[in-house]
Amino acid sequence: MKLKQLPSEFQEALPIVEKLKAAGYEAYFVGGSVRDAILGRSIHDVDIATSAYPEETKKVFTRTIDIGIEHGTVLVLHGNQEYEITTFRTEDVYVDYRRPSHVSFVRSLEEDLKRRDFTVNAFALSDEAQIIDLFAGLKDLEGKVLRAVGVAQERFNEDALRIMRGFRFAASLDFDFEEKTFKAMQETAPLLKKISVERIFIEFDKLLAADFWRKGLEKLIDTKAYQYLPELGDKGSCLQLLLDRLDPAFCFQSSEQAWAMLLIALDINEPKTFLKNWKTSNDFQKSVSNLVAAYRKREVASTDRFLVYQYGLENLLLVENLRKAQGLPVENEQIKALDAALLIHAKHEIVVNGGILMAELGLQPGPNLGHILNEIETAIVDGDLINEKEAIFDFLREKGMI
Ligand code: ATP
Ligand code: MG
Repeated sequence: MKLKQLPSEFQEALPIVEKLKAAGYEAYFVGGSVRDAILGRSIHDVDIATSAYPEETKKVFTRTIDIGIEHGTVLVLHGNQEYEITTFRTEDVYVDYRRPSHVSFVRSLEEDLKRRDFTVNAFALSDEAQIIDLFAGLKDLEGKVLRAVGVAQERFNEDALRIMRGFRFAASLDFDFEEKTFKAMQETAPLLKKISVERIFIEFDKLLAADFWRKGLEKLIDTKAYQYLPELGDKGSCLQLLLDRLDPAFCFQSSEQAWAMLLIALDINEPKTFLKNWKTSNDFQKSVSNLVAAYRKREVASTDRFLVYQYGLENLLLVENLRKAQGLPVENEQIKALDAALLIHAKHEIVVNGGILMAELGLQPGPNLGHILNEIETAIVDGDLINEKEAIFDFLREKGMI
């Protein structure tokens, strides 16, 4: 099959393929971008595979960066774009069911396509818009099927991350698994324990953010693969709850929101510990915990200005969005009005601080100073005090604090 027209992202990268070919090598577009182009989806990361060895690729181009020479990848700078050019390769021996222990560069496109995970990810596209489809991936695209390239069981045994990638692609493409592929995923799922948590997080996170996240999650539950993921071992019924509680048309607005809802469905008391075990960043742990806390406050109370001040407009709207998706009453307008009426949105916006109070009023450092600052903050948020120095000093005098 030929694409009617090369999408503009490929057109822009065409000079790179042409240069490699002019130097006597083979070069093709490969990977997810080819799949997405055939599906008419938006394209990101145009990847190129070539028969040129990394050193040879580097001789063809003037601006290159070594980003993964041992895996055969050279970054080529072209215009204001960057392209990953990877030498055709096979991955021979797998130790520990993760990354190949050894990568061999080969001159054959077929060998390179054979090592790819699913048939719909194993296309190559020539500079003349010809699609090379060695594993009947086009038929699978049409049937909306994810099928492992080659013997499924072997492929997941080689690299168990492919199991998580499978769920992720089911979620982003709305595809189902071919029978043998599904069975092999079920059987090899225990190997997920050997995969680094960081890599599993990336896939699970992409799954949750995807349009068809329900499908990805359903498959994760059906295969029981969740049993081998951090903190989810015995949580099948809670994961199901996530599906049952949310409106079928609902999609998460952010990764943080998705993980917050996951923690709520799982009834996790210590979000930070949970997310630490998923090896997420401190910032992520903080944002998600904050959302969970705000959600739980909203379960027991209506919004007021303190809630808006404490959690912020954006977080509270994300919480309301989760409530709406579960058919719970929402207070979006009230939250926006309360936010608009707030005189400050953070402590640092107060015109005085400890230093100023000490310098201008002769206050001493210590717990009392902290207490005074809290009183000022509360009064401003409450709307009882304006955020001006003289007004604040008057307020402290009236209260007998100075
Ligand atoms: P996305 O559109 O989300 O980037 P993608 O299909 O491009 O999805 P990538 O993770 O960017 O996925 O990988 C690019 C290509 O490399 C895949 O399409 C696949 O052919 C191959 N690939 C990546 N990871 C693996 C793996 N673990 N096993 C086999 N092939 C893989
Ligand atoms: Mg990609």
